[in-house]
Amino acid sequence: IRRYSAVAGKDPSIAGIEDIVAVASGKGGVGKSTTAVNLAVALAKTCQLKVGLLDADIYGPSIPTMMDLCGKPEVMSALEKLTRGVAWGSVDILVVDMPPGTGDAQLSISQRLKLSGALIVSTPQDIALIDARRGANMFRKVEVPILGLLENMSYFKCPHCSEKSYIFGHGGAQKTAEELDMKFLGEIPLELDIRSSSDEGCPIVISAPNSSAAKAYTDVAEKV
Ligand code: ADP
Repeated sequence: IRRYSAVAGKDPSIAGIEDIVAVASGKGGVGKSTTAVNLAVALAKTCQLKVGLLDADIYGPSIPTMMDLCGKPEVMSALEKLTRGVAWGSVDILVVDMPPGTGDAQLSISQRLKLSGALIVSTPQDIALIDARRGANMFRKVEVPILGLLENMSYFKCPHCSEKSYIFGHGGAQKTAEELDMKFLGEIPLELDIRSSSDEGCPIVISAPNSSAAKAYTDVAEKV
């Protein structure tokens, strides 16, 4: 059982929660939320941990746009309510889906939640990897241990002939992880079932636990 907070010498910042682990990305759309949900389920199922899941992407909610609402919410007080205002019970790991990016908001969340670790998600594209580097620098600045870099949408596996196509390039994330002295957590393929299961509200680790994609997430859970 992981005890990052103990290793880092930090007291848990929310009563009842041992460790708070962020899933972060330098930019949006790389699969951060998809990773957060599948990792949370994999940690619960495979590692038998009591897991909480928090959507902290409170800076980019879609509802105000869809409902034509304006005004500035008090964001940090919302975070307080979502964390210390919730009866979490006893939780081993709280997985936090961070807002994308590497600005003051992310820094502030990292410090307020006293993160015990952060996992960075990137696609293989150079531009996404540059942003991933910024993410790594940000976490180092606030002394949050980086659990590793996970490459999402690594390759497309043809459902007809099973050939792998490296649509966004290949090998870049592993190289970046080595350069930045981070653990490389593996490759998650670009797969229709990952997207459709998420859209249906049943992450692939639950809907198709024996699929290779689910196994890829389980491997990540075992590595972090
Ligand atoms: P982020 O949180 O980084 O903005 P999301 O997790 O919301 O990204 O993913 C963006 C879109 O890409 C979603 O529609 C999601 O279902 C899809 N997606 C993410 N990862 C994969 C994958 N490995 N294979 C197929 N679709 C994916």
